[in-house]
Amino acid sequence: MLPTEVPVFIAGGGPFGLMLANELGRRGVATLLVDPKDGTTRNVQANATQARTMEHYRRLGFADEVRALGMPADFPTDVAYFTRFARHELARFSLPSSRDARQLVKTLSGSWSAAELPHRCNQKFIEPVLRRHAERLPGVWVCYGWRMTRFETLENEVQVQVEPASGGPARTVRASYLVGGDGPRSPTRQALGLRYSGETGVTRDFVGGRMYAVYCRIPAFYREIAHPPAWMNVNFNRERRCFMPAVDGRQEFAFHTQLKPHEDEARVTDESAAEMVRQAIGAPLAVEVLARDTWTAGHSLVAERFGAGRVFIGGDAAHLFTPTGGLGYNTAVEDAVNLGWKLAAVLKGQAAPRLLESYDAERRPLAVRNTAYAKGFADSLGIEPPREIEDEGPAGELARKQAGDYLARHGAAEFNIPGITFGGRYGDSPAIVPDGSAPPPDRPNVYLPSACPGGRPPHLWLADGRSLFDAFGFEWTLLRLGKGAGAGFERAARRLGVDLTVFDLQTDEARELYGAELALIRPDQVVAWRGGDDRAAESVLARLTGRG
Ligand SMILES: Cc1cc2nc3c(=O)[nH]c(=O)nc-3n(C[C@H](O)[C@H](O)[C@H](O)COP(=O)(O)OP(=O)(O)OC[C@H]3O[C@@H](n4cnc5c(N)ncnc54)[C@H](O)[C@@H]3O)c2cc1C
Repeated sequence: MLPTEVPVFIAGGGPFGLMLANELGRRGVATLLVDPKDGTTRNVQANATQARTMEHYRRLGFADEVRALGMPADFPTDVAYFTRFARHELARFSLPSSRDARQLVKTLSGSWSAAELPHRCNQKFIEPVLRRHAERLPGVWVCYGWRMTRFETLENEVQVQVEPASGGPARTVRASYLVGGDGPRSPTRQALGLRYSGETGVTRDFVGGRMYAVYCRIPAFYREIAHPPAWMNVNFNRERRCFMPAVDGRQEFAFHTQLKPHEDEARVTDESAAEMVRQAIGAPLAVEVLARDTWTAGHSLVAERFGAGRVFIGGDAAHLFTPTGGLGYNTAVEDAVNLGWKLAAVLKGQAAPRLLESYDAERRPLAVRNTAYAKGFADSLGIEPPREIEDEGPAGELARKQAGDYLARHGAAEFNIPGITFGGRYGDSPAIVPDGSAPPPDRPNVYLPSACPGGRPPHLWLADGRSLFDAFGFEWTLLRLGKGAGAGFERAARRLGVDLTVFDLQTDEARELYGAELALIRPDQVVAWRGGDDRAAESVLARLTGRG
């Protein structure tokens, strides 16, 4: 049974929609999510959950559950480059197993000072966790098998029409807000008449053009291939380029190749798909095709706006990436985190509707930034291998040495990205109060912890072994780093109906890291304000909730 009236209607049950349902449900906001599929995705798409996304999963209480998924706990998450998987290894970027990542994170500082490290696991394993947690929340309906067919925006509500995907009568649901998390072809974005802008149709030797995905089982892979196992297997030759992440660390892989101009996707059969995989391996191993599909690489697209009035879009509906860097799903999750607390605050009367304007102001520039980083990685990976790359003899050896040096640099650049994952900033937003300090430079591979308002709060481990982020409240947090000031914020929060947790952390290390006596942290764990006293508490909180 679908409700006929809800505060928030979400079209689309991919990572964006499911995460948004969690953010809203955790705040007691009734939400209906529909998706025409019969359940979460079976496609093997995203394989990398970035560290910032893992920190959000931790905030919601299921990071450990996610980290236990995918490959065995002791499986290395290396990124390795080969001519073909059974032949020459060219370069390797070593990364920890999920078991080691849990320990390692407690010892790191600087760029990787974090509550969580990245996790390499396929999207098809993660979506059921997001779904299960959303379904447990009172007031959240997750309804696969239903499609949104149209909507109409009225002054005080949106009327949304839905139909069972298998056919049947349409129903109308009245919602205060509609959110389209309905993927790249987003009916919501199209109905709003919003165009994607940016680059599309970029061609490269690899990751620029028509791609072919083969989800397959190769039972003998780890037995027959002499090289150490890796999570991400990438090959570099002139006949069959591919990237092939491990899915279960035992026998399943997500193979992605680029079709040559003469290859017609309509003529690919299970047998010819298996042959493509064998070409990439360079050995006649048995390949069982589980699923196959085409997709296009070469997009860096961002919608001109992330909504209009009572309707918002997020995730792939709002931006489309080339998957290098593993940023599409992660950017989608952060969109949901950003929109979730704001919608809830407005619906609960804890913020003015104007706060919602900051969603576009904050997330659109981030999408432009992240798609540009992904494009840079695709340009770097997409170069043509040298003619001699597979030759025996000195010319081949030299070509492989040079390619190895290049790919080692490329691998570190694409897969060690604390700057991208932690360094995104909302400096120019109306939902941030700047303090006149300059933010650190935006560099993909370096993150400089800084409490300059608009960025992720600097992380540290507390004396009791907890992450500082575990001590934050679920909504707003006042971090009291000095003695005395702070009561003004508590009074202002009570008057304005803002849910504020005060956390005292009076160590020199923390004060130095935050550069102030007080720091105010938003519900999405972003520094909203910092300062030395609380005289302006009321106006700061009013501004941050769209009322100032
Ligand atoms: C090969 C490949 C590899 C990738 N690797 C990575 C990676 O490593 N890391 C990363 O971050 N990203 C990666 N991505 C991108 C990632 O898969 C997407 O960015 C992510 O799925 C976006 O999530 P979403 O919820 O916005 O959209 P989707 O996952 O596309 O979900 C949209 C949902 O909307 C539903 N829908 C459509 N129409 C309607 C309607 N009318 N009514 C209701 N629902 C509707 C669809 O059925 C779908 O379930 C990869 C993508 C590809 C193709």
